[in-house]
Amino acid sequence: MVTRALDVVLLGPPGAGKGTQAKRLASTLSLLHISTGDLLREEVAKNTPLGQEAASYMQRGELVPDDLVAKMLLARLHTQQGLGGCVFDGYPRTQAQADLLDQLLAELGRRVDVAVYLEVPDEEVVARLGGRRWCPQCGAVYHVRTQPPAREGVCDVCGSELVVREDDREEVIRQRLAVYRSHTEPLLALYAQRGVLQRVDGLGTVEAIFARLKEAVKGSVAR
Ligand code: AMP
Repeated sequence: MVTRALDVVLLGPPGAGKGTQAKRLASTLSLLHISTGDLLREEVAKNTPLGQEAASYMQRGELVPDDLVAKMLLARLHTQQGLGGCVFDGYPRTQAQADLLDQLLAELGRRVDVAVYLEVPDEEVVARLGGRRWCPQCGAVYHVRTQPPAREGVCDVCGSELVVREDDREEVIRQRLAVYRSHTEPLLALYAQRGVLQRVDGLGTVEAIFARLKEAVKGSVAR
C-alpha cells in the first residue's frame, strides 16, 4: 500500500523488458505507467503533427528531440491518476531529460524515489527484439518464442494482425543500443550517486524478474 507518492524510473537497454515490467509494477502499486515510447507510437498512429515529426527519428532508432518528448510527458504527468506517483518507462534517456524530470517532480513536491536498472546483455537484446511482435491496434506485445499469441500472427486481445515494429529490425536495434550506451547509460551513475539506484537481473521469466523488481522497489522505499 503506497501512502505517499512514489516515483520509479526504469532504466535498461531496449528490449530489457521495461514495458512489460513497468505495466505490472504500476498496476500492483496503483501508480501511473508513463511510457514515452508508447505515447510517441500513439502520436504516430494518430498522425498528429508531433507524431509526424517524431516518426523519422524513431524509424532510425534515434532519440526524438527532448522538447517534443517533454510536451507529451507534461500532459501525461498532470493527469489525475498521476498524483499517487508514476513508473517512468523509457524516460529519462538523456541528462537533460533527467534534469527536466527532477524539476517537474520537484514542482509537485516529489522526486525520483528509486531508479531500477534492468540488466540484460546485448546478445539477449538482439534475440528478444528480433522475435518481438506488436499489435498496432491495442499495443499488446508478444514474442515468437517466449510469449507467442494463441493464433500465430494474431493479437489475443483484439484480434488484429501483429507486426514487427519498424525499429525492431536488426540494424535499427544496433543503432538503438548504441544510442542507449552513449546517452542513457551515463544516467546510472547519476542515480547511483544519489543512492537511489537498484540493479535487477533482467534475465529469466517475466514472473521471476517481476519478483526481483518488486523486492528492489520495496527495499529501497523502506530505507
Ligand atoms: P521505446 O519503446 O521506449 O523503446 O521507444 C521507442 C522509440 O521512441 C525510441 O527508439 C526513440 O526513438 C523514441 N523515444 C522513446 N522515449 C524517448 C525519450 N525519452 N526520448 C527520446 N526519444 C524517445
